[in-house]
Amino acid sequence: MKYVSTRGNSTSRNFTEILLAGLAPDGGLYLPEAYPRVTQAELSEWRGLSYPALAFKVLGKFITDMPAGDLKQLIDRTYTAQVYCNGRPGGDAAEIAPLRTLEPGLHLLELSNGPTLAFKDMAMQLLGNLFEYALDQGHAELNILGATSGDTGSSAEYAMRGKHGIRVFMLSPQGKMSRFQTAQMFSLQDANIFNIAVQGVFDNCQDIVKAVSNDHAFKDRYKIGTVNSINWARVAAQVVYYFKGYFAATQSNDEQVDFSVPSGNFGNICAGHIARMMGLPIRRLILATNENDVLDEFFRTGVYQPRATAQTFQTSSPSMDISKASNFERFIFDLVGRDAATMRGLWGQVDAGGAFDLSQTQYASHFARIADYGFVSGTSCHADRLATIRRIWEQYGVMIDTHTADGLKVGLEHREQCVPLVCLETALPVKFEETIREALKREPERPAGLIGIEDLPQRFEVMAADASAVKDFIAAHAA
Ligand SMILES: *Cc1c(COP(=O)(O)O)cnc(C)c1O
Repeated sequence: MKYVSTRGNSTSRNFTEILLAGLAPDGGLYLPEAYPRVTQAELSEWRGLSYPALAFKVLGKFITDMPAGDLKQLIDRTYTAQVYCNGRPGGDAAEIAPLRTLEPGLHLLELSNGPTLAFKDMAMQLLGNLFEYALDQGHAELNILGATSGDTGSSAEYAMRGKHGIRVFMLSPQGKMSRFQTAQMFSLQDANIFNIAVQGVFDNCQDIVKAVSNDHAFKDRYKIGTVNSINWARVAAQVVYYFKGYFAATQSNDEQVDFSVPSGNFGNICAGHIARMMGLPIRRLILATNENDVLDEFFRTGVYQPRATAQTFQTSSPSMDISKASNFERFIFDLVGRDAATMRGLWGQVDAGGAFDLSQTQYASHFARIADYGFVSGTSCHADRLATIRRIWEQYGVMIDTHTADGLKVGLEHREQCVPLVCLETALPVKFEETIREALKREPERPAGLIGIEDLPQRFEVMAADASAVKDFIAAHAA
């Protein structure tokens, strides 16, 4: 399996060559040269597999330049009941991503039983083991620099803690994360994890990461890397649970299912698109946004118009407060028939701060094929989240988080009785206590291991919003 860039100017590469890379050298994103197809016989064989065995089959199609025994061992070490045991009481940790049936034909796929209680752990835990393996092979070291307002940073830290050859420098805006999220990150005592509380807002943190990354001499000298959602290995690892959800929600491979996905950077649903391209019988991919509806606008009108930070709303589903979807380029590449010249034209406009419109005549034939890819979309607002959290609690006795509520709200709008609907659960409600209290007038359930986490000793550095101070700190503590 070889990988190509969505902008067409890079030579094709192997999986392990792109594992530690972010963007391709031409500014595009990596995708398989051609999607692997699953046969009917494979689907039948895979239906009965455990999560790690299924992951080995699916990922084995994408990772072909690593000894199979090593890959299997890595996967078996990643997807264990011990790592994915944070689910609600009575959940089945051995399932890793259990399907919870609300009523016949309506399901939640639980993806937030990992250490940080959000779906990002499903891929990030594997990434931690893959990175450590690759660095060991090359006797190399990596300093991961990131900015977070919550879920990504904690997921990265829990995936990389204790890994040899790796240090994590994670910037977060001081005092701006929830108490629970702050405690999750800052209570880590591992020597290779550095939490940097920046005196500023999230944008300051992101600007510092950009400034450091643009200093190429510093970046090379200190082997600075990232773990953001454009990383191909993260997308590939997410493909697995679409197979898992499909098998759990159906009896036979003649059936189709719909998936509903609360979306921000288009990483999660991009994996669904890839599963569908591989031949998994997915009828629809239902994309849900919150008030930041740039992706819904595209699927309705053909206009993709990323918005400025000032026009990005802060909502009660904060991990979807994104107005430029970093993985979206991967889908558009497929939609325009993988024509790299068209991609360079479209993303030239986006990278210059502009927009594109696929309803225009020269692109209309591409946009007309949206339905062939199964995509439909919708939006959800704060009042919708509250109403959905209440309705699911009252009707089924199940407590859902705010992001999952966005997905359910839009999923139910598109539901057809004859097709099973699988809604992806992307976080546990305890991460967003305030909104749960507002909706249900009660406290969210908290996994036993996380009771009192706010009272643990915390380890972090406070720093001014100043890239040179961050560089000095990295230079003094780098791997
Ligand atoms: C990151 C995140 C999302 C959005 O996922 P994308 O891959 O960015 O589309 C949704 N819900 C939660 C809880 C998240 O952490």
